[in-house]
Amino acid sequence: ARALTPQRAGRILAIANQKGGVGKTTTTINLATALAACGKQVLIVDLDPQGNASTGLGLDPSRRKITVYDVLMGERPLPECVVNTPVPNLQIVPASVELSGAEIELVGELARENRLREALSETARAWDYILIDCPPALGLLTLNAMVAAQSVLVPLQAEFYALEGLSHLLRTIERVRRALNPELRIQGVVLTMYDKRNNLCDMVAKDVRDYLGARVYDTMIPRNVRISEAPSHGKPVLLYDFRCAGAQAYIRLARELLRREEAPPPLTAVAS
Ligand code: ADP
Ligand code: MG
Repeated sequence: ARALTPQRAGRILAIANQKGGVGKTTTTINLATALAACGKQVLIVDLDPQGNASTGLGLDPSRRKITVYDVLMGERPLPECVVNTPVPNLQIVPASVELSGAEIELVGELARENRLREALSETARAWDYILIDCPPALGLLTLNAMVAAQSVLVPLQAEFYALEGLSHLLRTIERVRRALNPELRIQGVVLTMYDKRNNLCDMVAKDVRDYLGARVYDTMIPRNVRISEAPSHGKPVLLYDFRCAGAQAYIRLARELLRREEAPPPLTAVAS
């Protein structure tokens, strides 16, 4: 049968870190927007019951009748749950608070960690990039993301406790790779909320680079008030204030990610 949609790369990235407030959702929305601005077709899957990625793209809760919950429960095929965003080339499968029940409701089900992978397997190639915004926990939802994805992109806040919890995240990725998804790699680590006037930020950035080496992106996302204002306008910062330092940093991050994909680094195990 002839495919209805063009066959694209269908690269699936889980944006994950079990810490809250480190910039997962901000990075998902703005990296996705920057990739779309580079001409890529991009899908966000909002996998956080808080639905911040959905709200940040202007989808208020009343418009979220059909969500990723229906996908995970096997009630609807994923393409039926995709909606447009204010950004050309960027679509989203939204989340609602219903999703907070999914972990418990799936407990008795077989292959419960494969739900998202199965839902995406037929349709991922309708997009170039699929970014999954994970909740701040390493539970069944994040596991679904890591099983569905080819790689994990880790936002790391440039603060004193940045490295705390990171080894746990890396071990989790390694366990998922061994047991459930042999393809899984680390896409990269991006330092967020970087403040160049703060010496501690510099020290943390150096420590993170010593520890993780080339996996850390050269691009750092600065702490920028425009980034934090944008979601209340239902827009990515690139639409809210294209010229601000935060928007420009996410464009650089998208370019660096695309550049690295063309020349991938040697593959290594993610943790010892
Ligand atoms: P997470 O999804 O990891 O919980 P968020 O992306 O929601 O984290 O970010 C947490 C808070 O910090 C949000 O209020 C967000 O607007 C703000 N924030 C994120 N990145 C930046 C940044 N670079 N500069 C300023 N504020 C930021
Ligand atoms: Mg979030």
